[in-house]
Amino acid sequence: MRAVVYDQPGCFDVREVDVLEPGPGHVRVRMTVAGMCGTDLHLHDGQFLATFPLTPGHETVGVVDMIGEGALDGEGALLAVGQQVVVNPNASCRVCDYCFENRPWLCEGFTGIGSSTPGGFAEFLVVPGAQLFDASGLAPDLAVFAEPSACIAHLMDRLHPLDGNSVIVLGGGPTGILLTQFLRHHGVDDVILADPNVAKLARATELAAIRTFLVDRDDVRGSMDSIVAAHGGAFDVVIDATGRAGVIQQLPRLARNGGRIVYYGVADEHDVVTISPFEIFRRELTIMGSFTEVDSFPDALAAFRRGAIRMEGVITHRFPLPDYASALESQRSDRSAHKVVIEAP
Ligand SMILES: [Zn+2]
Ligand SMILES: [Zn+2]
Repeated sequence: MRAVVYDQPGCFDVREVDVLEPGPGHVRVRMTVAGMCGTDLHLHDGQFLATFPLTPGHETVGVVDMIGEGALDGEGALLAVGQQVVVNPNASCRVCDYCFENRPWLCEGFTGIGSSTPGGFAEFLVVPGAQLFDASGLAPDLAVFAEPSACIAHLMDRLHPLDGNSVIVLGGGPTGILLTQFLRHHGVDDVILADPNVAKLARATELAAIRTFLVDRDDVRGSMDSIVAAHGGAFDVVIDATGRAGVIQQLPRLARNGGRIVYYGVADEHDVVTISPFEIFRRELTIMGSFTEVDSFPDALAAFRRGAIRMEGVITHRFPLPDYASALESQRSDRSAHKVVIEAP
């Protein structure tokens, strides 16, 4: 089969590799769609737990192709050959202190399909049956958002309760659009999405019926002050979904006293921002991170099946596997790209 293979950071090709038989407890999935996101750019640079050689691809939709011995036990019991599935890429060791405390996303032995083990930018993917979820009946163009949605479901758990809160999301990428919809469904009426890209904001308004604010790329700080003025005050919760240090640096300007600031977008590992300890102290601000999920796929898929999440038109760029380099370039620098996916022919 063909697969994207990185031998080291920045160095990849699309090559023939062996198609593996699924071992005990494992299932082989024939890939149909795999989403690309900013994390893949960090992986390209050798960041985000990247382990080489690496086949990336962690937002995956496919069809069950072959079932290994015992993979139909337990949670995999509903699987059948030909069924559409999504793959939860994340697994924890289930034995360390954090896992024992039921906080598996903090696991010391955390592994990710598409970062530490082979992922879905390939024709086939072999994964533990327990990490597969039934996606039958869902449009592949929606199902491909299961992984980012599961991460957001985890953030919603972390932010609970949100009753009566005002929330601003910085960054109108697919994650920002998903976030605003999840926030609305968690009872937040006052949600604003801010981004410098008019097309992304227009799509967000259409899909999520939320207020948006156009950010001036050349004056992020001034834009933040303008947002607060237009909103009639600062926000209880400020969520960064850009991962850009220049934005993250300014987040306290958007927060009310006592507010929560969430670092959600994946920043470069070498980025540094400055904070005023006195400001954090005096204004009782909370700065928190929200990493990935381990157990949130059922929540995300339930939201899809309720019709709570709409993503029509967000996939703007589709590439076949051999054009991985073009897909990566679109993800990196094409401002008209909203969601980039790799599709099976
Ligand atoms: Zn992703
Ligand atoms: Zn663990």
